[in-house]
Amino acid sequence: MCQKAPCVSVCPTKASYYNEDGVVLIDADKCVGCKYCMTACPYDARFLNKETGAADKCTFCYELKVSKGEKPACVSTCVGGALMFGDLNDPLSEASQFLAKHKGEVRKPELGTHPNVYYIYEGVVK
Ligand code: SF4
Ligand code: SF4
Repeated sequence: MCQKAPCVSVCPTKASYYNEDGVVLIDADKCVGCKYCMTACPYDARFLNKETGAADKCTFCYELKVSKGEKPACVSTCVGGALMFGDLNDPLSEASQFLAKHKGEVRKPELGTHPNVYYIYEGVVK
């Protein structure tokens, strides 16, 4: 989920958009399947859904979970507790507090997309 998402800016039909919570979503009814967004995404996060014919991607379970105050399914089911989800605009959220204490890295920061997915490598044996 980028704060400056190239998938949104290249979409010719505005099928890719930011919702009221700043989440990048896809309106399948507006998508014409041109794949511009798939080419523009530097994280290879999108694919063409063969059932709908529209672009698709992870939504952090926005509609099914997050909009109801629940965590994404991957976070709530991860047996290792390796995933965390939260509002980084809220300094009191678990994610904000954790990131304040650990060094988090984003992928390809030089591209200026400002992704909101951070990787914490501390304590990981490489
Ligand atoms: S990671 Fe890719 S699909 Fe997700 S918001 Fe960024 S550019 Fe768009
Ligand atoms: S595939 Fe769909 S969502 Fe992606 S750029 Fe084209 S119209 Fe927009």
